Amino acid sequence: MNSKLAISGGDKAVRIEPGNIFTWPIITKEDEDAVLEVLRRGGMSGTDVTVQFEKELAEWQGVKYALGFNNGTSALQGAMFGCKVGAGSEIICPSITYWASAAQVFSLGATVVFAEIDPVTLCIDPGDIERRITEHTKAIMVVHYLGHPADMDRIMEIAKRHSIKVIEDVSHAQGGLYKGRKLGAIGDVGAMSMMGGKAFAIGEAGMLVTDNLEIYERAEALGHYERFNENIQTEDLKPYIGLPMGGYKYRMHQLSSAVGRVQLKYYDARCEEIRKAMNYFWDLLEGVPGLRAHRTQKDSGSNMAGWYAPRGIYCPDELGGLSVSRFTEAVRAEGVDDCYAGCNKPLHTHALFNSCDVYGHGKPTRIANSDKDVREYDSSLPVSEKIGEMVYRIPWFKHYYPGIIEQYANAYRKVSENYRELLEGDMGNPPHLGGWHFFKHR
Ligand SMILES: *Cc1c(COP(=O)(O)O)cnc(C)c1O
Repeated sequence: MNSKLAISGGDKAVRIEPGNIFTWPIITKEDEDAVLEVLRRGGMSGTDVTVQFEKELAEWQGVKYALGFNNGTSALQGAMFGCKVGAGSEIICPSITYWASAAQVFSLGATVVFAEIDPVTLCIDPGDIERRITEHTKAIMVVHYLGHPADMDRIMEIAKRHSIKVIEDVSHAQGGLYKGRKLGAIGDVGAMSMMGGKAFAIGEAGMLVTDNLEIYERAEALGHYERFNENIQTEDLKPYIGLPMGGYKYRMHQLSSAVGRVQLKYYDARCEEIRKAMNYFWDLLEGVPGLRAHRTQKDSGSNMAGWYAPRGIYCPDELGGLSVSRFTEAVRAEGVDDCYAGCNKPLHTHALFNSCDVYGHGKPTRIANSDKDVREYDSSLPVSEKIGEMVYRIPWFKHYYPGIIEQYANAYRKVSENYRELLEGDMGNPPHLGGWHFFKHR
């Protein structure tokens, strides 16, 4: 059925126009009306819509408190500050994630210790956490990477045993499940981005979710002066009410919260359709040499949430050692324009985390307040360092349109079946695949 590869002049596997199968977020008149209502009554910088959105989101998330932020980066910083990450503290974070899981610790006077990822889940490897815990460790930053839940049972057990907090970065997995439990509500605090490229996409916005009053109030204290008032119950914070302790202003824009309230109503159903479509794609490719799904097991009670920025795992040994660069080039020729190798690059190799003196301490900020050098040595994180050649993009379908999905799956299958043709002329992989962030801004 699969004839000549398109890269060698054959017909493309993908011939149907995709229509709206990739369009995201789904914006209807209801979103537009909600925005116009706020806009027309001059409510952009208020908090009434945001507070309503927080209430609804907390209920959906199954937590007591939700606090809206202007973006995910600040929500995560609020979570860190909430967990008392401060001068000389350490957090443990996977090296493979977007920078905003970690970089804000510098402004709290703290540092980050990077841990390895698991090659199957692509999330932090629980087996690599414990040896990195010191008396300064305040929190483990867990990232449910590309929608896949991290191994929370093992992570929570380690954290409890060492009395350290767990922060879940849910920016890739809003609404996802781990063994039936909602991601973001398993650790001490969850924080998520809701920027326009994410699965939960409402503009530039973020949300912190927790059952812990002190964490919630500390997050308010950091950057929400208008809420840092007489209602605060945490004794340590009371003397400072009125002004933000961080000197930040992190309020959510109400045009975003207005969109958020509408998006939330439909989010679970839309994600369910995404998962149906994505699972169908992978079911079609089950057993195809070189390709492995990055997804949760059926009937495990876990799922891939909104399947943000989906990737497949590449197994070159099954394709005669074909480079992922050559593989993806051939898939692109079949009509999958977006198929590239890599994901986020390892953070521990970037100069910001090794040599940069951000605040003029006279030494790298990474170790400015540390009593020992926490920087990784070369090749201490082998999976993270070769992640660029281990994964490739697959289409992020938003609708279950079997006919279209079959053509895309066939592009990958066709390249796998004809891999021998590609070995000749394979120049190998360039030294660096992927990027520090991978969202393409329109
Ligand atoms: C997008 C993202 C963030 C940051 O969120 P912003 O809303 O862009 O500030 C943090 N962590 C991860 C894993 C992300 O993907």
